[in-house]
Amino acid sequence: MRPQILYPLFSPADSVKGVGARYAKMLNGFGISKVMDFIWHFPHDVINRDIKESIAAAVVGEICSLRVRVCKHIIPSSSKSPYRVICEDASGEIELIFFKVYKDSVSAKLPLDKEVIISGKIEEFNGRKQMTHPDFILPADKAKELPLREPIYGLTAGIPQKTMQKFVREALNVVPTMPEWLDDSLLKREGWKSFNESLLSVHNPQNMADIDNNSSARRRLAYDELLAGQLALCLSRQTKQSRAGISVNGDKHLRTKVFKALPFTLTNAQIRVLKEIGKDMAADKKMLRLLQGDVGSGKTIVAFFSLLNAVEAGLQGALMTPTDILARQHYKKLQPLAELAGINIALITGKDKPKEKQATYEKLANGDINIIIGTHALFQNQVQFRQLGLVIIDEQHRFGVHQRLALSDKGKNADVLVMTATPIPRTLALTCYGDMDISVLDEKPENRKPITTAIVCTSKMKEVLASVKNATDKGGKIYWVCPLVEESETSDLSAATDRYNRLSKLFPSKVGLIHGKMKQKEKDAVMNEFAKPDGHIKILVATTVIEVGIDVPDANIVIIEQAERFGLAQLHQLRGRVGRGKEESYCLLLYSPNISRTAYERICVIKNTEDGFKIAEEDLKMRGFGEVLGTKQSGLPDFKAAKFPEHTDLLSIAAKNARYILNQDNNLSSDKNKNLRTLLYLFDMDENIKNLNG
Ligand code: ADP
Ligand code: MG
Repeated sequence: MRPQILYPLFSPADSVKGVGARYAKMLNGFGISKVMDFIWHFPHDVINRDIKESIAAAVVGEICSLRVRVCKHIIPSSSKSPYRVICEDASGEIELIFFKVYKDSVSAKLPLDKEVIISGKIEEFNGRKQMTHPDFILPADKAKELPLREPIYGLTAGIPQKTMQKFVREALNVVPTMPEWLDDSLLKREGWKSFNESLLSVHNPQNMADIDNNSSARRRLAYDELLAGQLALCLSRQTKQSRAGISVNGDKHLRTKVFKALPFTLTNAQIRVLKEIGKDMAADKKMLRLLQGDVGSGKTIVAFFSLLNAVEAGLQGALMTPTDILARQHYKKLQPLAELAGINIALITGKDKPKEKQATYEKLANGDINIIIGTHALFQNQVQFRQLGLVIIDEQHRFGVHQRLALSDKGKNADVLVMTATPIPRTLALTCYGDMDISVLDEKPENRKPITTAIVCTSKMKEVLASVKNATDKGGKIYWVCPLVEESETSDLSAATDRYNRLSKLFPSKVGLIHGKMKQKEKDAVMNEFAKPDGHIKILVATTVIEVGIDVPDANIVIIEQAERFGLAQLHQLRGRVGRGKEESYCLLLYSPNISRTAYERICVIKNTEDGFKIAEEDLKMRGFGEVLGTKQSGLPDFKAAKFPEHTDLLSIAAKNARYILNQDNNLSSDKNKNLRTLLYLFDMDENIKNLNG
């Protein structure tokens, strides 16, 4: 249960002094619903109100405080003109301007001949300095009351800056004194202050350096958040792993057969990764491993060998894909290898007829099928396995993180291997997959040729079409990818259909079209025709359905229209469709003439490297977390204090320390570590603590 000292922070926002129902509603729409949300609402700017030496030294356009003498009140003749007050110091004059004010209130605050402190934005009118409605007017003897620094917060409509400042101040007042949950040595090394001191210092910045994400106080709070996240991941992994698994340790007889029949030898990376997976499978704990490998790094064969391991041990294996096309492609590729090994492999898709499905279910239940390939249809409730040993989830970035966890539950105590072709920067991997062990295929098969990438403006369409003609004449095969116009399939479709019609006129009977709305049979027919060496389709116009995993080694050119509309990772995936065969391969990125400079720079990243990890890092820098993994629903944590890439180094430290801490004390029982429980509750990680004792 949540410790009592945190109660005030979890109270509703309207428990903060001054926040009534009306403000509470506005704040709620702004993401502030609890008291705690105020304390994580960090200022993005700071106003310096140090008193300047003279009016002459005050810079127009800046906020500034001055000590001046009141010389003259100019009372307006009509209510439309402003009330003006002339002030001076030894260096010159400044005029204060007030619209629609009571004369008495102004004269009371600015008595003639008296010295006052004024603070506000310096403006200029007709060569004279002026200040409209100063933020502060104080008698000179009360100069100390002027707040010399003012934090500036992001606002939502209806809540003025001063009100927001007051709310945050009030919220800070109820923050309990937290126990120290960080190690002394770490605090010393980083020069960090306590949680409470750091929080106060973030909200009381003295200068712009304090606003910076790299300020000591912000780093401390970011670290707290990251440590909480990493502890939570480790704890959930601890829980999952404590679940019994099956020890799978095949005798290699099937793998040896297949290995001998392969037209290539495995890369060192493939061998290493297979060892890592084999070790996990042999253990009697449930495996939860992520296999990362760039497009074309050869994940499929790694998957197949791992499945064979399960079959050798008398168990079944399942390979799950995000789309039917991919399921079919895997099936087609693996079926001959399975036959050679003398085992049964089967395909199940959402589009199977009920009778076919029923037959497949029966064979799965009685063990006739050794390996099953399919989409999520695989894990509908009625699917029973005789004994499932390994579940492989392919190209999982199409599945959200939550979905992935749900899926790993379906396999019961079967081992789980998740494969992704999206190279995930270390930062992201730690944040989202810290609960899994990670294997990386960091080497591509030797026979790969580099892909030549060019960036071309659509105004050069004639030249593009000429080279398409040239290439098809030479027997080349081309993917022509049309952009995601909006997040809607129909508009996607019209762009693709349009392009298909136009290309068909130029290249009669050589063009095919494939998109997500087509029936499976139609898709298969088109894909097959394109994949066949002697098929008539040489140019395949496609929406992004081809992004994931499609493998046609003959295809050597990919043209991507409006490349600026795609994410970098997506472009990299699309490009990865070529460069798989013997021919030289090309990727043409077409962009619109009115493209922005940043957008252009983004696609240059693709031109300049083929290293998926580098591309992913760039993508992360440019677009942030949510985008990189594809969708907003990817279940990525929303950080309160941590910012990337600035705090990347802290994430690695947090990951290491979390593991260290739990290795020493996996129940967080020691006095010091009990404080860490408070930290976990502070960051809403209740779920992960509930399995701890005491
Ligand atoms: P991905 O990692 O993108 O899923 P695939 O598993 O589809 O890659 O492999 C891409 C291609 O490379 C396939 O045609 C596969 O047969 C081939 N391949 C896999 N491993 C090797 C290897 N060690 N040497 C040569 N070719 C390989
Ligand atoms: Mg693949």
